[in-house]
Amino acid sequence: MNFRIGHGYDIHRTAPGRPLVLGGVRFDEDFGLEGHSDADCLTHAICDALLGAAAMPDIGHLFPNTDPAYAGIDSQVLLGRVIAKLRAAGFTPVNIDATLIAERPKIAPHIAAMRAALARSSGLAPDAIGIKATTNETIDDIGRGLAIAAHAVALVRKE
Ligand SMILES: [Zn+2]
Repeated sequence: MNFRIGHGYDIHRTAPGRPLVLGGVRFDEDFGLEGHSDADCLTHAICDALLGAAAMPDIGHLFPNTDPAYAGIDSQVLLGRVIAKLRAAGFTPVNIDATLIAERPKIAPHIAAMRAALARSSGLAPDAIGIKATTNETIDDIGRGLAIAAHAVALVRKE
């Protein structure tokens, strides 16, 4: 059995008037995240974990933020493309585990919806997608609500 593990990390600044999308779920908040796409930092970290497991270049290389084609794009579309790229290279995603670090909003009530959205985009079962959330205990800029960050790991099997 040929298993490979990958890690991903992403951080986006918060900004008033921007949409807040995390794990494919749109939050009803008065602030969102800065970014070229929908700025879904959780999904970006997951994409990078999957790409890292296959030793492929990260999403910044695959979907450059200088390319107008990706302006405002739904990151679930990017995740679907990452999965297709892995499958084309003979990699089968096995599971994903991720941690979101956000001072607000409260994430826990939305975790089931995030897992469902990520399952739809990735083709994985919801029980193969772990999502956890924590605050940064008011420490540093994440703790002051100036940014939201995410870490992710992914396991893939090389066929
Ligand atoms: Zn990002």
